Amino acid sequence: MQITRPDKFYDLVVVGGGMVGASFCCALEQALGETSLSILVIEAIPPNANSAKKSSFDARSTALSFGSRKFFEGIDLWQTLGDAVSAIHEIQVSDRGRLGCVEINADEQGVEALGYVVENKRLGQVLNARLNESKKINLLCPALVSSVKATEKGMQLGLTHGDTETIIDASLVVLADGGKSHVCEQLGIARSIERYDQHALIANIVLEKPHEHIAFERFTDTGPLAVLPLKSIEGKNRGSLVWTLSVEQAAQYAELEEEELLPLLQERFGYKLGKILEIGETFVYPLSLSLAKEQVRPGLALLGNVAHTLHPVAGQGLNLALRDARALVDVLMSAQQHGLGLGEVNVLLEYVAGQEADQATTTQFTHNITKLFSSNNEAKVWLRKFGLVAIEILPTLRRSLAERAMGLSKSR
Ligand SMILES: Cc1cc2nc3c(=O)[nH]c(=O)nc-3n(C[C@H](O)[C@H](O)[C@H](O)COP(=O)(O)OP(=O)(O)OC[C@H]3O[C@@H](n4cnc5c(N)ncnc54)[C@H](O)[C@@H]3O)c2cc1C
Repeated sequence: MQITRPDKFYDLVVVGGGMVGASFCCALEQALGETSLSILVIEAIPPNANSAKKSSFDARSTALSFGSRKFFEGIDLWQTLGDAVSAIHEIQVSDRGRLGCVEINADEQGVEALGYVVENKRLGQVLNARLNESKKINLLCPALVSSVKATEKGMQLGLTHGDTETIIDASLVVLADGGKSHVCEQLGIARSIERYDQHALIANIVLEKPHEHIAFERFTDTGPLAVLPLKSIEGKNRGSLVWTLSVEQAAQYAELEEEELLPLLQERFGYKLGKILEIGETFVYPLSLSLAKEQVRPGLALLGNVAHTLHPVAGQGLNLALRDARALVDVLMSAQQHGLGLGEVNVLLEYVAGQEADQATTTQFTHNITKLFSSNNEAKVWLRKFGLVAIEILPTLRRSLAERAMGLSKSR
């Protein structure tokens, strides 16, 4: 429920009601059952704010894995997302201008779909509606957490909402405020950052031919270019474009008029879906691998991009964060049942220990793919060529790539 004035103390405060913070809160709400905890989520940007503010729920689309479908089914939101979701029945991976194309399809893998694409805006509407109608979760929005400090019993936060400044205390703060967290900086939590010197230009595009539920991932000399299948609207065949470019090119392309950008994109993507007819508003995202060096402290847990920001090439960032969110909810509920404090460091360390392997393999997988497929180095080009051919020939290799893409890999 929306509130306008926060209490002085909460058992749990979530900073950031973006894709991860809001999803975590919805999962927590459902897990609470009869358990009574006071919970507050603080979000800086209202869901209907103009997109220039770079909300979590902007013009991007997200490929959800089968595991993430289970997450949303588990909290009774999958049905609500229903019509807005487009299933991926096939993934075509190719290398621009070179031989070698891998087709992974759902039938071969014995699954209904390899993944699902949802527009972030729609996901935001569904999550925010649930938070607004919740009787157990309090939502303060717009409000900005401007200061943080550890106390003997947890964390103390300074908030600004409207003209009011407030101090609140919490036993546990779950930080889900994204990859550029000022709160994290204030706490002195260091990050390891590897910049890819690439930016992603994203837009919704309209195509001549229907996508037939195929997701295209094309590797080009500037980096990967993906077109994900979107629900058609008013008879228009729509796709979600994620185009990786050098920093300079991305800045330059973002300034181009639609008619100037269209031929450049067509040349890169080819004619698999016929002519590209329209390119919607473009947005640019800098890409890096950014990992927090600590994910928990007494009274504090980091979730989502603030814990690990990955390259979008393999569509793993949110999917991984949802697995983290589920694990954190389970650990907190178990602690509650055993009479342990939510912010006790041993409780939070149990969460980290449970997710460590998944985070490490998902991060490494994404990083390796980014490096391998963004290079013109001859050795990597050959590796890529034979890698793609080998995956096409060997069903077990294809199966393992599909499992990773679906978020079902056993190695996590
Ligand atoms: C181009 C692109 C494509 C992607 N595609 C995929 C994909 O297909 N599949 C996938 O799994 N992942 C994908 N990702 C990754 C995914 O978008 C991220 O994992 C996800 O957005 C992380 O969400 P978050 O809530 O952690 O952070 P954010 O989205 O950054 O949200 C943080 C929230 O915290 C709020 N906030 C920040 N500071 C404060 C404060 N001080 N006080 C109050 N509120 C605050 C912000 O307003 C924001 O709403 C993609 C990423 C990009 C860039």
